[in-house]
Amino acid sequence: MVSYKELGLVNTRAMFAAAVKGGYAIPAFNFNTMEQMQAIVQAAVETKSPVIMQVSKGARNYANATILRYMAQGAVEYAKELGCAHPEIVLHLDHGDSFELCKDCIDMGFSSVMIDGSALPYEENIALTKKVVEYAHKYDVTVEAELGVLAGVEDEVASEVSHYTKPEEVIDFATRTGCDSLAISIGTSHGAYKFKPEQCTRDPKTGKLVPPPLAFDVLHEIEKKLPGFPIVLHGSSSVPQEEVDTINAYGGKLPDAVGIPEEQLREASKSAVCKINIDSDSRLAMTAAVRKYLAENPSHFDPRQYLKPARENMKKMYIHKIVDVLGSNDKLLQK
Ligand SMILES: [Zn+2]
Repeated sequence: MVSYKELGLVNTRAMFAAAVKGGYAIPAFNFNTMEQMQAIVQAAVETKSPVIMQVSKGARNYANATILRYMAQGAVEYAKELGCAHPEIVLHLDHGDSFELCKDCIDMGFSSVMIDGSALPYEENIALTKKVVEYAHKYDVTVEAELGVLAGVEDEVASEVSHYTKPEEVIDFATRTGCDSLAISIGTSHGAYKFKPEQCTRDPKTGKLVPPPLAFDVLHEIEKKLPGFPIVLHGSSSVPQEEVDTINAYGGKLPDAVGIPEEQLREASKSAVCKINIDSDSRLAMTAAVRKYLAENPSHFDPRQYLKPARENMKKMYIHKIVDVLGSNDKLLQK
């Protein structure tokens, strides 16, 4: 048993309370590789932002959970080396699907876990979430739960259609489970193809797809039911058109990829939404830079040559999200 506190990580409690009060959101970036980890830490340190580094089941399968845990420990030390005296870094399990997986992560030093029982019947979701909360709280680990179903594909989480969270259920769910934050479904979606073209309209000037707006009415209903309670948005990449264009210009094939417009995420950040999950944008930033570099430098074969611009492109994207979308810059609780 390793406590996250020994590793210099923090849970989400204080940062969420400050984010809800201050009208901003904490970035939750998924990571699988060293370059992503470095880019996340550099961006967080340079902007003086708290940050959630999250590990999905797919990341555990790809990189190995033990390695990722040591990378998070390394992230804390790296942040200090870059000049941040008190880094506020959360190591979070994204989409935990069983009590055993959540327990395993808590026991190995994660400071926050998500138990995703959203596909289960309501009462089973409550029972599973409550069991995880009871274990996690013994070790001061915070728990994110989910009510409502998101559409899209993310690692092993997949659903054809979304079901908005029912505002009338949130008080009962939060009270009976004791969860610390709640992921809701208001129209965000996993992956780089968040909406089918037929769900979108076309911008007459650019011909680009314009996605349907998020259900802010549902969000505001939930906020009214649970004043000040931390709300989480999954599937909130914006799928930047310039990255998609670069990928397509250098041999890729991502037709009609579409994400959540940043103005809507900016608006959501000002509400009780205090954690916004971004994964696809990092994948796109990395792939765009690698494709461009390799196409322009066909004789190069040292991975450091093409991973360096990939890392720089991800870092630029992370800083943009922190400063221009979520507003979590200069929000460290301990200066
Ligand atoms: Zn998710």
